[in-house]
Amino acid sequence: MPTLGTCPVCERAIRVRTGKMVHHGYQRPGSGHIVGDCYGVGTPPYEISSEGTRGYRDHVVAPRLARDETFLARLEARTVEELHYERTVPVPTTLQRGWTGRRTDPGWTTTVGRIRFDEAEPDQQRVWERVYGARLDTTRSEVAWMQRELERCERLIRDWAPGELREVESEPQPGRQRRRRRLFRRTR
Ligand SMILES: [Zn+2]
Repeated sequence: MPTLGTCPVCERAIRVRTGKMVHHGYQRPGSGHIVGDCYGVGTPPYEISSEGTRGYRDHVVAPRLARDETFLARLEARTVEELHYERTVPVPTTLQRGWTGRRTDPGWTTTVGRIRFDEAEPDQQRVWERVYGARLDTTRSEVAWMQRELERCERLIRDWAPGELREVESEPQPGRQRRRRRLFRRTR
């Protein structure tokens, strides 16, 4: 019978195997936006220890917040002279479809561009200002999100108390994936 525990990082109910959280993607609590592997994978469930939360705070959240705050300060002081940014460019659709067998329309893709502050090029200058403004916005929201994430970690660590793991009849994950796949086929 599968055992479920609370992930010490994303706070979702996840299967526990040999005392550790099994593989699962990270979801920002409340938004459902998956950003990759959850840092809580391989750590003990929250019911047993807040070790995973502390590791996430110290090795992910705190360094990232520090980096973001430093970069934001440089952006606000206008000392950044070069930026990398994502550009949306068309891809050869028919080739992509035929070769990779992708199920989604690969009409557009993103590529990383590089832009430098250059007073001599008025056109370049307009792109630069747009990219600079957009980066300011995203960096500000990233800082705000990391601050909330740090507060969430601190609260989890402060309020930690031992809890009971739950035995369940079946796992919730595979059923959800099957439903998603069916939905996907219908919309093709
Ligand atoms: Zn997790």
